[in-house]
Amino acid sequence: MIRQPIISMLGHVDHGKTTILDRIRKTSIQKKEAGGITQHIGATEVPRDTILEICRDILQVFPVDLKIPGLLFIDTPGHEAFTNLRKRGGSIADLAVLVVDVNQGFQPQTYEAVDILRAYKTPFVVAANKIDMVPLWKSKEGSFLKNLREQAREAVDALDERIYRIVGSLYDLGFSSERFDRVKDFTKNVLIFPVSGKTGEGIPELLLYLSGLAQKFLEEKLRIDVKGPGKGVILEVKEVSGIGTALDVILYDGVLKRGDEVVFLGKEGVVESRVRVMLRPAPLSEIRMGKDFIPVEEVHAAAGVRIGGPLMDRALPGSPILVKTEEALKEIERERQEMVFQGSELGVVVKADTLGSLEAIHRLLEQRGVPVRLSDIGEVSKRDVMEAAAVREKDRYLGAVLAFNVKVSPEAKEVAEKTGAPIIEERIIYRLLEKYEEWKEKERIQELKEIYRKYTPPCSFQILEGYVFRVSKPAVVGIRVLEGRLRAGVRVMREDGREVGEVKSIQREGKSVEFAEKGDEVAVAIEGPTVGRQIREGDVLYTVMSPQEVRIFLESPVVSQEEKELARKIRRMLRQA
Ligand code: GDP
Repeated sequence: MIRQPIISMLGHVDHGKTTILDRIRKTSIQKKEAGGITQHIGATEVPRDTILEICRDILQVFPVDLKIPGLLFIDTPGHEAFTNLRKRGGSIADLAVLVVDVNQGFQPQTYEAVDILRAYKTPFVVAANKIDMVPLWKSKEGSFLKNLREQAREAVDALDERIYRIVGSLYDLGFSSERFDRVKDFTKNVLIFPVSGKTGEGIPELLLYLSGLAQKFLEEKLRIDVKGPGKGVILEVKEVSGIGTALDVILYDGVLKRGDEVVFLGKEGVVESRVRVMLRPAPLSEIRMGKDFIPVEEVHAAAGVRIGGPLMDRALPGSPILVKTEEALKEIERERQEMVFQGSELGVVVKADTLGSLEAIHRLLEQRGVPVRLSDIGEVSKRDVMEAAAVREKDRYLGAVLAFNVKVSPEAKEVAEKTGAPIIEERIIYRLLEKYEEWKEKERIQELKEIYRKYTPPCSFQILEGYVFRVSKPAVVGIRVLEGRLRAGVRVMREDGREVGEVKSIQREGKSVEFAEKGDEVAVAIEGPTVGRQIREGDVLYTVMSPQEVRIFLESPVVSQEEKELARKIRRMLRQA
């Protein structure tokens, strides 16, 4: 038996995820003689007959033998919802639709979506949305290919240009892609569907190809044992009047019955419970009679249901929920062990609101080579910041708390102030990682400044011809920094290693400055030499570094290669002197 593929929508805010989902629903309801749609909790099912009806026109051109019973679209679009569709080693979403505003192209959250889809190995297609906004395009409901024939040359070109921008962005990320009707090998290309959520154009092709791709390439994944023990994932944990705490679950395998014993993860570990009530949305006719939900005795995958029972308030969103069997107990225990995360000794601390977002952040950090020391669900506590502060003592770039969509206790804030270990807070995963990178960059600049202040930075500079302002006591000359960085207060030498004096001060445009950098032309006062004797116009001078200072620069990860090279050169000069 083959179940409906589960499909999730991702993409940048305002690119049209919700509008496309609504449009699919509306279009399907219009075809109610073919079955319309079936409402689930958290998902909408477009049955096979409805798909066939919507795609009637194109089926005459591309006949497809649809075997899947329909498509199950997850109702909440977006990355955070997607991350809760987790399953060991991947996602329960069989396919994703990446929505891209065709006029805007890739935006930050589009990139994040691709990162997430890659991390979860979820195949995806692109809906290039808002084609009704392409200049001169005349959009109308129905088949894109049919409508394409009626467009002006300029409109077709304008659309192509925009599609190729998307192709380019995907190419940079390592994916080859093409407009769906130009693709020959479906295993090697990401398909791009021009659509309009507003007019409904292109929706038939999107639905038909999603169905075709799923049944062709995901058949094994979709094959289920209809009578087998139910397996699902908890999308949401919420208070519902009459039930207490209820779990909104997407069942992706087997059957779930009222009275079944189930296991899932809570913050303190594995929870065992029993399904006391199970609800589905009422059909339209009953909703009119004031009923929103109806009780059911059993559901078969794939489906979305709401369940109630003892201890459900302990459940974590993103947790698996399994009908209790020997096998299920082992599986949930494996999951529990992964949840209590003991990472590298040196790594960041991550706190998030759900298991799904926690895991997604983990995977994205892993992709970026950032180790994690500790990660957990729930508010940022004093202890979390203390852990980060301890890491910061050893590696200042990893001593941080990344807080996603969680509260921060006042004590935690206090410790952060005191120790300098920051709490980086965000509600968008992409921004969280970006903010962490920004903070690291600031730290790097800070660390460099500290090193330059504390030790003698390597520097070579040339005394400019015709810029001798004073011959001695101190000598005041115009110079250009050739390499490295000159700081006031350092000693300088000639190329033969002979020390000539100390740079007392640096002036740029009449003002005293602490540093002069490569390329800068400044005036310096050098105590010690007399121009014409120890130093001459045109001479190149170097800073005098102690062997310990050379070592510090050579070993620092933040110092540039060029500066390291110069430090080595200075060491050689001093040795030869
Ligand atoms: P989401 O944040 O990705 O879910 O985006 P929405 O579906 O909320 O859409 C954001 C805005 O774009 C809304 O004002 C929609 O009406 C508009 N929009 C969505 N799809 C289309 C489309 O195909 N054409 C046009 N012209 N506007 C659209």
